[in-house]
Amino acid sequence: MDASDLLRSSLLHLSDSSLVRTTIEKAPVSRAVVQRYVPGTDVAHAVSAAAELRATNRQVTIDYLGEDTLDAGQAAHTVDTYVGLLRALKAKDLSQFGAAEVSVKLSAVGQALPQDGEKIALDNARIICEAARDADTTVTLDMEDHTTTDSTLSILAELRKDFPDTGAVLQSYLHRTEGDCRDLATAGSRVRLCKGAYKEPASVAYQDAEDVDLSYVRCLKVLMAGDGYPMVASHDPRLIDIARALASRHGREPDSYEFQMLYGIRPDEQTRIADRGHQMRVYVPFGEEWYGYLMRRMAERPANLQFFLRSLVSKG
Ligand SMILES: Cc1cc2nc3c(=O)[nH]c(=O)nc-3n(C[C@H](O)[C@H](O)[C@H](O)COP(=O)(O)OP(=O)(O)OC[C@H]3O[C@@H](n4cnc5c(N)ncnc54)[C@H](O)[C@@H]3O)c2cc1C
Repeated sequence: MDASDLLRSSLLHLSDSSLVRTTIEKAPVSRAVVQRYVPGTDVAHAVSAAAELRATNRQVTIDYLGEDTLDAGQAAHTVDTYVGLLRALKAKDLSQFGAAEVSVKLSAVGQALPQDGEKIALDNARIICEAARDADTTVTLDMEDHTTTDSTLSILAELRKDFPDTGAVLQSYLHRTEGDCRDLATAGSRVRLCKGAYKEPASVAYQDAEDVDLSYVRCLKVLMAGDGYPMVASHDPRLIDIARALASRHGREPDSYEFQMLYGIRPDEQTRIADRGHQMRVYVPFGEEWYGYLMRRMAERPANLQFFLRSLVSKG
């Protein structure tokens, strides 16, 4: 394990530590730092970030932060927030034709509840899908750690019976993903391909960054050759170039796939890609529960960590 692997795994560990979490949340960590990656805590912040992104021709997917809920009341609150968000997007003319959609973590809407978690998550996700349909837009189910993959894909299959445009997410670090890509590369199937953000064991996931990248390319080949709608979620310039080349090799029109990046990461490249006539969608997280999300971003890029630590010791 080299130094950056060690740092990455320590940060992913910290994302689970409630002591560190409380310390950081109470520290005078400037809103400015958090705001670079998370535009705010409530619906109004998310909607105004969406409006700004739309003004520069970028599409949007919005995530209400929070995961691993073990409280049915909290899950219901998350559902209400998504419904309110979708109404607000519609009222501002931001959601039509899927221009601004939502990303949902099933563990935030009840999947992890000990009693009937899967059923509760499905029912809750259905409510969000209905609100999305009313707003002329879609829902994508984020993918979480590997213990939830089968459950998430089975809930996806159920939802797609009524809401066929519900998006899936697959993670190239998992050994199983090339096969999942084959299963999901069907007509109309929206599939976001990402590398994967959780700490996973070698029994299920590639540990070496190069192997994760090679798997990403194999998965991209399957998705681009298939009949579905690939959503290429990465900031990696090499993978973006490969995706573009594969799309052109398969004669794909620019509206038959899209690129996706995270809010605050490579914003100039986001606009460049959009200006070149590609579809570019930005993932916008919002809410009070920014800690776990931010730690995963720090783990991905030590340069972000330096910036963050400096702000922890400065005021405001
Ligand atoms: C839209 C979207 C949705 C996602 N949804 C999920 C999900 O549901 N489940 C999940 O597990 N993960 C999700 N992820 C996270 C994803 O799995 C990765 O953890 C994250 O995107 C980092 O991987 P990367 O492909 O950008 O490559 P990395 O290996 O992190 O970076 C590769 C290269 O990209 C460039 N780069 C990266 N960051 C920066 C930066 N800050 N500034 C400049 N250059 C940079 C550098 O050249 C770097 O070498 C999502 C990511 C995106 C973009």
